[in-house]
Formats: sequence, C-alpha cells, structure tokens
Amino acid sequence: MIAGAGQAGFQTAASLRQDGFAGRIVMVGDEPGLPYQRPPLSKAYLMGKTTAEALTFRPEKFFVDNRIEIVAQTRVTAIDRTNKRVALSSGETLDYDHLVLALGAHNRALPIRGAALEGVFGLRTLADADAIGAMLADAHEVVVAGAGFIGLEFGAVASALGKSVHVLELADRTMARAISPAMSQLFAAAHASWGVNIDFGQGLAALAGERGRVCAVETTDGRKRPADVVVVGIGVLPNAAIAAEAGLDIDNGIKVDAELLTSDPTISAIGDCASFPSPYTGSHIRLESVQNAADQGRAVAARLMGRAAPYGAVPWFWSDQRDLKLQIAGLSIGADTTIVVGNRDERRLSVLCFRGDKLLAVESVNRGADHVAARKMFARGTPPLTPAEASRPDFDLKAWEAATR
Ligand SMILES: Cc1cc2nc3c(=O)[nH]c(=O)nc-3n(C[C@H](O)[C@H](O)[C@H](O)COP(=O)(O)OP(=O)(O)OC[C@H]3O[C@@H](n4cnc5c(N)ncnc54)[C@H](O)[C@@H]3O)c2cc1C
Repeated sequence: MIAGAGQAGFQTAASLRQDGFAGRIVMVGDEPGLPYQRPPLSKAYLMGKTTAEALTFRPEKFFVDNRIEIVAQTRVTAIDRTNKRVALSSGETLDYDHLVLALGAHNRALPIRGAALEGVFGLRTLADADAIGAMLADAHEVVVAGAGFIGLEFGAVASALGKSVHVLELADRTMARAISPAMSQLFAAAHASWGVNIDFGQGLAALAGERGRVCAVETTDGRKRPADVVVVGIGVLPNAAIAAEAGLDIDNGIKVDAELLTSDPTISAIGDCASFPSPYTGSHIRLESVQNAADQGRAVAARLMGRAAPYGAVPWFWSDQRDLKLQIAGLSIGADTTIVVGNRDERRLSVLCFRGDKLLAVESVNRGADHVAARKMFARGTPPLTPAEASRPDFDLKAWEAATR
C-alpha cells in the first residue's frame, strides 16, 4: 500500500510493476485526479504553455492495465502498526503487508495579519496553480514572499506575463539555502534585467485587504506596496504527522535507514517527507526534488522485489527561470571554495563547489553538457578534481570527465 499519490508514490507503483511485482498495489492520495508532475506548475503551466492533462505521469489506461488502484481525494488519517492497517478519511480501512509513506510536504505558513485574504496563495498543487492563474490574469501588482526556487520561478513567469513583480527575501541573496553566492548573483542580475524587483533583507509583515481580497502588503521595514496577487514561497515542511502519531522515528521528516525503511521494518518512507542518511553529506538529510522522489521510489520497489541496496543515487535538480536553465549535480552543503567556468555575460556558466580539495557540486546555467558530465563523474564516486586544476584557463569539465573516465 502506498500513502501519497505524487512523484514518489507513482514511481514506486510503476517500478513495482516493471520489476514484476504481481500482488495488489493501492495508492491513496488526497488530491483529485491522476498523479501529476509538480515542476511545470510554477513554469510552463502558469505560462499557459501546457495543459493539466499533459501534467499527468500516465493516462488512466496505464493504471488500469497495470492494476494500480488509485483511491483519490482520500487522506490516510492514521496508521495502526499492530494490525498493519491504515484508516482513511472516507471511514474505511485498508490492510497492508508493506506500507510506503510518500506523503510529500506542505507549504510553510506565514502567521501574519491578512494571510487568509483572497488573492494570497501558496504554490504546491494543481489547484493552487489554477487559483493563481485565474487571479493573475487581471492582476497588475504581484508580490512574492521568498526568493527561493518556487518564488523566483513564479516571479519569472509573472514578469514574462507583463506584471509588476516585487519579491521580498529575508536573506541577502537568491536561493540562498541551495546555491552558491556566485550563482545567486547571476540570478539576481537576470531578474533585475527582466524587471523583477527583489528586496533583500525584507519579509512580509502584514497583508491588507478590501472586501476580503488582498490589496496591499506591508514589509518588515514598515513600507507598504500595492498587491493584487501575493504568492508565499517560504519553504515547505515534511508531511510527517501521521508517522509521528504512529510512533515512527522523526528527524526533520520521517527518519529512514540506508534502505529507506522507517523504524518499523514493514513501513518505508520516501521523497519530500523522508529524512535519509546521505552518503554525500554523511548525515541525515531531506531533499525536495524530482530526482530524489523518483530514485527513492525505484529503490524501494527494488528492495521489495528482493534487490536491497543502500540508497546512494547522485542528487540532481533543475530550475527554469525564463531563458535560464539551472541544473545542479551533487550537494553543495559545506562548500568553502567555488570556481566559476564559462561566460558570465552570456549567462552560460558553471560553478564548481568544493570543500577543500573535494568537489561537492556543480551548478550549471545553460551549460547542459557540464551538468551531464558532472552527474557521470559523481556516479563514479568523488571526482579527483581539485580547485587548482579547475582554475586553469583552458579547463573544460566535459573534456575532463571524458579524459578521466
Ligand atoms: C511548484 C513546484 C515546482 C517544482 N519544481 C521542481 C523542479 O523544477 N525540479 C525538481 O527537481 N523539483 C521540483 N519540485 C519539487 C518536486 O515536485 C517534489 O520534490 C516532488 O514532487 C516530491 O515528490 P513526493 O512524492 O515526495 O511528494 P508529492 O509529489 O508532493 O506527493 C505527495 C502527495 O501525497 C499527498 N498526501 C499528503 N498527505 C497525505 C495523506 N495523509 N493521505 C493521502 N495523501 C496525502 C499530497 O497531497 C501529495 O499529493 C517542485 C515542486 C513544486 C510544488
């Protein structure tokens, strides 16, 4: 049984069937419709360049043909570990031999005055994107709280649609939790060139409304700005409550071991909700990415089919903001040295992030070949590339990867 019908849940079910699992697969998800991809929600979907139907991982026929039962619009409300049974919001119960928790994450709420006004959104689900899209059409003034991936992707879309966009960011740079200062700088400059105003060191303090709809925001330094639409993108929290209530170990998410098993050997946890031991950091981490959700789904399916192995897939991530395609291979947490290769003026560059002599991550913008080379390098183990070598004027990552294969 799979709780959560998103990226990780879908992948588990699809991989189980691909790997020859013949038993019953039931996937319970609280959203309506078929499982779908989230990344386009803040990109092509809001731009009107793709449809809701195109977001689904597979058409209905796939689930019928593969005997994957989807119980939609239904929450798993409790886990009875003694009887290996879950309770559903419909009042029904479902028994399991093995339970996969693929519950994702929810938007961090902003506990400020006016947060419940119409026109104030988070961006997590198709329903959120539809609601934002409907209001964005007539909006002029857009305010975004948070210059993380989702806030900036949305800001990029809104500015491309001709809206006046103001982003408020408490930190002093863009996407500060995930990328190097050099890359943050490139994105800040790009957004400025698109007319997106980013106010660093500023948060949202309060929202003002008229007839129940947002009309202005107040920043933490006391300034007021008009706002027709406000999108809050200040991070997410793992959906771990039902796991905690069932007595499973929690540590910034549902804690799992190297094989993605929780403290109960009949329950796995994967994707955004799971905190796993990463061979890349040597600590438990939680990642919010398609790669992580999909690879962990594959890993759990393989284990259930008798091919257990410690999870150690190379972490990678991407973000599209107008003509900039950011791709990251590896994890830059703890980096102390960065080397920039490529052309800053043309916005085609890679930032190599090192801790001492150890390469931790490669962040690339519009340099897909570097990203592919970096993923290949990390898949083989820690690449023996030093900052000194990467600093050579003629250094080329793709050629270096090929030469050291
Ligand atoms: C707007 C947006 C843009 C993104 N862009 C990118 C990108 O460019 N690149 C990238 O790598 N990643 C991106 N991500 C992140 C990526 O989509 C997630 O990391 C991925 O979806 C995680 O998969 P998951 O299965 O863990 O969680 P989800 O896909 O969120 O699925 C979890 C599902 O479980 C449901 N659920 C929760 N609790 C219960 C319950 N008790 N009972 C039943 N169902 C429940 C949730 O409602 C949800 O449907 C983006 C995310 C968003 C929101």
